[in-house]
Amino acid sequence: MKNNTWKKIFVAAGVMLTPVIFCTLIVAAAIMAIVSGTAAGSQSVYSQAGTLSDSVLSYQSAAAEYCSQFGIPGYAPLVLAVMQQESGGSGNDPMQCSECFLNDRYPKKPESIADPAYSIRIGTEYLASCIKAAKCKSPSDVSGISLALQGYNFGGGYIRWALERGGYSHTNAAEFSRIMAKKEGWKNYGDTDYVPHVLRYYIQPSNGSFAVPLRTGTYRISRGYGYDSSNGEFHKGIDYAAPAGTNIYASAAGTVSYAQFGRAPYGGYGNVVVIQHSGNIMTLYGHCSKLLVKAGQKVQQGEVIAKVGNTGHSTGNHCHFELRINNTAVNPDTYLSKNGAK
Ligand SMILES: [Zn+2]
Repeated sequence: MKNNTWKKIFVAAGVMLTPVIFCTLIVAAAIMAIVSGTAAGSQSVYSQAGTLSDSVLSYQSAAAEYCSQFGIPGYAPLVLAVMQQESGGSGNDPMQCSECFLNDRYPKKPESIADPAYSIRIGTEYLASCIKAAKCKSPSDVSGISLALQGYNFGGGYIRWALERGGYSHTNAAEFSRIMAKKEGWKNYGDTDYVPHVLRYYIQPSNGSFAVPLRTGTYRISRGYGYDSSNGEFHKGIDYAAPAGTNIYASAAGTVSYAQFGRAPYGGYGNVVVIQHSGNIMTLYGHCSKLLVKAGQKVQQGEVIAKVGNTGHSTGNHCHFELRINNTAVNPDTYLSKNGAK
């Protein structure tokens, strides 16, 4: 446990109590950077984020699966940011959920959870409830996310309280903390800087900053992102079915990081192009018949990069398109503009 913890559980008011070791690395400026970044033009929508540990990154597919399961697809990068803040990804309780009221499998005492997958499930379920209570509109809704995060740290009572006061602010978080500390007779209550603490690890492109990689009218979506109920598999991207040879366009400007027949970690994708964008975001275009770019090449949004095909693990001509943040495949729908490539 680094900077905050769920020490005690719900009191009658449904408030989660959270004594804290205050962290001196307070980065309130991080919020301002992200907020101003979002308001800026489409080329500068990305926040500069702290680094996620390899251990946190190893939980990306678990985070994506539980986000889908708990109705918050697209929020996996936020779960990973919370995990980085909570534990850096170490131990068997990477979300530090042992004392969460949702834990009914292990004793409600620190570090009791002995199964990382269970910890991520509980943490994601709790975060999902905060995101919904905060009426968060999308993974780009910084004010909604901020309210949800502070509620995650303080307990759900904060979200209701803050919504009556216009939502999250650093000032009202501090006020809530003082009120609760007084009420409980504690020295501290929660981490009043939990929002900047987590957001420094959160990367969020803005809505509409990426383009559908095929031209409108040339494709039909044959499979979407998420669980496929027919086979129980998790589909990490969107499949655009189109005739062989149909043009595939770069979804956003960036640098080609991979363009060849896919081998590990891109095995199965056949001929695949991966483009690295700013802010640790990448897009991937799989199963191509032909590749028109090379690794190291800079591309602009809308530039033709490959042709639709049926290479690799594929059962028909289509482009498998992924959008990854910090190497976690997220729901591209969240970030795609309405229009196909121009
Ligand atoms: Zn696919």
